[in-house]
Amino acid sequence: MPDFSPTEYAVPGFVALVLIEMIWAARKNRHAYEPKDTFTSLAFGLGSTVAGLVSGGLFFALYLFLWEFRLFEIGWAWWAWIACFVLDDMRYYWVHRCGHRVRWFWASHVNHHSSQHYNLSTALRQSWTGFLTLGFAFALPLVLLGFHPAMIAICAGFNLIYQFWIHTEAIDRMPRWFEAVMNTPSHHRVHHATNPRYLDRNYAGVFIVWDKLFGTFEPERRDEKIRYGIVKQLGSFNLAWAVFHEWVGIAQDMWHAPWKHKLAYLLREPGWTHDGSRQTSDQIRKDWLERNRIAEKTVSSENPIAGDAEAA
Ligand SMILES: [Zn+2]
Ligand SMILES: [Zn+2]
Repeated sequence: MPDFSPTEYAVPGFVALVLIEMIWAARKNRHAYEPKDTFTSLAFGLGSTVAGLVSGGLFFALYLFLWEFRLFEIGWAWWAWIACFVLDDMRYYWVHRCGHRVRWFWASHVNHHSSQHYNLSTALRQSWTGFLTLGFAFALPLVLLGFHPAMIAICAGFNLIYQFWIHTEAIDRMPRWFEAVMNTPSHHRVHHATNPRYLDRNYAGVFIVWDKLFGTFEPERRDEKIRYGIVKQLGSFNLAWAVFHEWVGIAQDMWHAPWKHKLAYLLREPGWTHDGSRQTSDQIRKDWLERNRIAEKTVSSENPIAGDAEAA
């Protein structure tokens, strides 16, 4: 959403913080950055800004049109901004959750997860093809309630800006009260992990409370090293492949599938197949839990590992 988005103004700040983190990484965490990976992330950031300028204007016009049919006169009062920001953050939670649970949405959101590194430049990995999904429709209830499209665009922009700083390993934990309410580096590291325990968890944008409310919260553990990326890693820095690989995968699957299963390859979760030849994140987690229980039983049947019971 071009004219109202505060995101572009934040770019100098993003660049400065990436540079500071690079200096930190050179001294404390040499594996945090890899030049080719960072370059891919930057290209994603640039490309998605261009794609956003084109598609954002279109969606904005649509929102303005539908705003004419609004239910309430909400206006521009200070409380309206707060309500809009909170509700928009819930909207983000659901768009993001669909981004992981519906392959059609995943095809564009996978871009954000394709790096095997976790640093501030990873935050800039935004999709180029988001407009191909119906993600914009999630904002329609807000528009019809009466929040002005410009207000929604500005809130969504600040939401995205907030999410930048949580893409880092340089911060371990924030104060307890902050971790309880807000999305943090610790919570979002879990979201970027491929460990079975962490798959499809912590979808929050700004407030982690949505995950706690809707049953998708998982705290980060110190005894489990995080493996970043996606279940089936890209293994390539080719930009075109990075952008379009999941769309290509969907097209191939739909082409080869029997007619009655074709649509399911678009609408079911990533990893779903009609013949069970691949695994969804739910199946990966189930297998892992079963393996773990067996492993526990061989050690001790009376002392389940703390925290596992909760995950089950
Ligand atoms: Zn995600
Ligand atoms: Zn992220």
